[in-house]
Amino acid sequence: MDEAIIYDCLLIGMYLLAALTVAILLFRTAAYGRHSEPGWGPTLPNRLGWILMESPASITVALVSTMEKPNIGALVLLLMWEIHYIHRAFIFPFWMSKGTPMPISIAAMAFCFNLYNGYLNGRGLTRFGPNHDASWFSDPRFLVGVTMFFTGMAVNLHADRILAKLRPPGDKGYYIPQGGLFRWLSCPNYFGEMVEWFGWAIATWSLPGLAFAIYTVANLAPRALAHHRWYQRKFDNYPKERRAFIPYLI
Ligand code: NDP
Repeated sequence: MDEAIIYDCLLIGMYLLAALTVAILLFRTAAYGRHSEPGWGPTLPNRLGWILMESPASITVALVSTMEKPNIGALVLLLMWEIHYIHRAFIFPFWMSKGTPMPISIAAMAFCFNLYNGYLNGRGLTRFGPNHDASWFSDPRFLVGVTMFFTGMAVNLHADRILAKLRPPGDKGYYIPQGGLFRWLSCPNYFGEMVEWFGWAIATWSLPGLAFAIYTVANLAPRALAHHRWYQRKFDNYPKERRAFIPYLI
C-alpha cells in the first residue's frame, strides 16, 4: 500500500487515540509514581523505564525525517524536537529519585506511542507535512511557535527541577512544592509541556504537530487533576489558591 495512505490513516488514528485516552484517563489514572497500584503486572526501575520508553522518540524522528533530504526549516524543527527528547530520555531520568518502580505495561505503551508519534512527526517534517524553507524563519507562525516551545520548555524544566530537589537522597516521600509556577499550580511541569507542544504545532504548522499537542493535553490534563486532588487529600495545609494546571482556572 502507498505510504501516503498509511500515513493519513495513522494521522487520523492519533486524533482518535487522543479522544480515547482522555476518556479512559478521566476514570482511571495511569498507575505510575504516586498513583502506583497493584494489578499492572511486573515492574522495572523507574529511571530505566523512562530511558526505555522515551528514547524511541528522539531516535525515530531522527531516522525517518532524514529519509528525505531535510531543508533548513525541517532541520531547525528537528533540532527543537531533539533538544526536548534527548533531555527527556537521557537527562531527566537522572534528575529523578529512584522512586516507585514502573509497571512494564505502562513503559511498553509509552514506548509504542513514541514510535508511532515519532514516525508521524518525523515524516511530517520532511515528506508529508508543509515544506519549510529559510523564509519560514520570519513567518509569524514560526516565531510565535518557537517562543511558545521554548517558554513551555523553560516552565517544564524549572518545575521538574524543583520537584527533583524535594527529596533527600533515598527518600520516597512527597512534599508540597514551592516556588516558580507552583505558587499557582499543582502541576506547572504539565502546563509547560502542553504549551511546548502547542508551540511545536504552530512552529511546524502541521497536522501531526497538532495531533501530538492535543494528545499531550488528553494525557496530562486528567493526570494533573488527579495529582491536584491527591495533594488536597494528603496535605491539610495545601494552598487553597492553587489550581491543577491552568492558572486561576482549572
Ligand atoms: P510528576 O510531576 O508526577 O513527577 C516528576 C518527578 O518528581 C517524579 O520523580 C516524582 O516522583 C517526583 N515528584 C513529583 N511530585 C513530588 C512531590 N510532591 N514530592 C516529592 N517528589 C515529587 O511527573 P511525571 O512523572 O508524570 O512526568 C515527568 C515529566 O514527563 C514531566 O515533565 C511531564 O511533563 C513529562 N511527561 C510528558 C508526557 C506527554 O504526554 N508529553 C506524558 C508524561 C509525562 P514519583 O515518580 O515517585 O511520584
